[in-house]
Amino acid sequence: FGLLSSEDPQIASVLLDELDRLRGGIQLIASESFASPAVLAALGSTLNGKYAEGYPGRRYYPGCEVVDRAEELAVDRAKRLFGAEHVNVQPHSGTSANLAAYAALLQPGDTLLAMALSHGGHLTHGSRVNFSGRWFDVVAYGVRRDTELIDYDEVRELALRHQPKMIICGATAYPREIDFSAFRGIADEVGAWLMADVAHTVGLMAGKALPSAVPYADVVTFTTHKALRGPRGGGIMCTAELAAKIDRAVFPFVQGGPLMNAIAAKAVAFGEALRPEFAEYAHRVVSNARVLADALAAEGMRPVSGGTDSHLALIDLRDVGVSGAVAEQRCRSAGITLNRNAIPYDPEPPTVTSGIRVGTPCVTTQGMGSEEMKEVASMTAQVIRNPDAAAETRERVAALTRAHRIYPSEL
Ligand code: PLP
Repeated sequence: FGLLSSEDPQIASVLLDELDRLRGGIQLIASESFASPAVLAALGSTLNGKYAEGYPGRRYYPGCEVVDRAEELAVDRAKRLFGAEHVNVQPHSGTSANLAAYAALLQPGDTLLAMALSHGGHLTHGSRVNFSGRWFDVVAYGVRRDTELIDYDEVRELALRHQPKMIICGATAYPREIDFSAFRGIADEVGAWLMADVAHTVGLMAGKALPSAVPYADVVTFTTHKALRGPRGGGIMCTAELAAKIDRAVFPFVQGGPLMNAIAAKAVAFGEALRPEFAEYAHRVVSNARVLADALAAEGMRPVSGGTDSHLALIDLRDVGVSGAVAEQRCRSAGITLNRNAIPYDPEPPTVTSGIRVGTPCVTTQGMGSEEMKEVASMTAQVIRNPDAAAETRERVAALTRAHRIYPSEL
């Protein structure tokens, strides 16, 4: 860091300011986490420059024998972690992983059955502003109005009616456990591929805090930077039968040279996730999310579906009469970073929304537990209800973050 400070003080100050922002606030964005210094070291490493199109042992460039070891370690560790038959660790992001999975198994114009964005699905699951909505004929399923849980009967009816080539399960803002076996049954009934996009929950799967999709789905796509605490990036797991198709779809179909530094960092993160401490962390992420959701409920802020089984809760703010957008901004003014989020059947437009999404990977990594989650809920409710309390809330935030510092001081 000393070198960066003297070479490029402007960028050095951006990095330091971001570290201060992270240290000085409460990070509740469900898709974020703090990668370890070891992961960051692998990312900012000598592997950055190497061109390595292809796969270990069959590259299109010479000099790959060293970086091959990093990719082999990443693949072996991921296979061990998830019990997958095949893993591709090259996707640059979750979006690239999904693009490659579609490219491997679908043709433009094919029918895709996936969760509606407005009910928790991801952009890449068929939104019209995304390639997935442009290139495929998309049928969307949602959650029931009464339970706010996935309606498996509706999924089955839609599958029987539309005969999709692929069914996607997995979401961006769905707090509950997904029944992968029910999805498998429906996919088998209509002869569709089953893809599980576990971008959000793969870290919990790794820590055995949520059931794995691997035994059920033909293809499992994921990101490495959310609760898994790795570098920004993606990956794909699949059956041995689909391995060659998936590999060809990632390279050369949708990507060129892999980011070997990121792959080394993925290997470090998978290695960390294989340790028993990671399982403890994953379970605590879920118990913290439950306590946070319950404590917000006690403040009159309703958790969608009544609670959570995962790292995130979706909170309906209609009873407190504050929109998601206003709540997001009020929280930000007090040093609490969370995002506005549509709730199912939201009467407000996506820029406003009636809800917020809160997640616990960051605060759990900082060592917070249930007592701290109650304090976080109390602070969040205080500033959402009363923007004039921002200064007071900021002091409470500062007290909490001082006691739960992230990253060693020399970083
Ligand atoms: N799939 C799901 C379910 C996600 O939640 C996300 C990101 O939030 C992605 C895919 C895309 O990941 P990325 O932002 O790395 O492209």
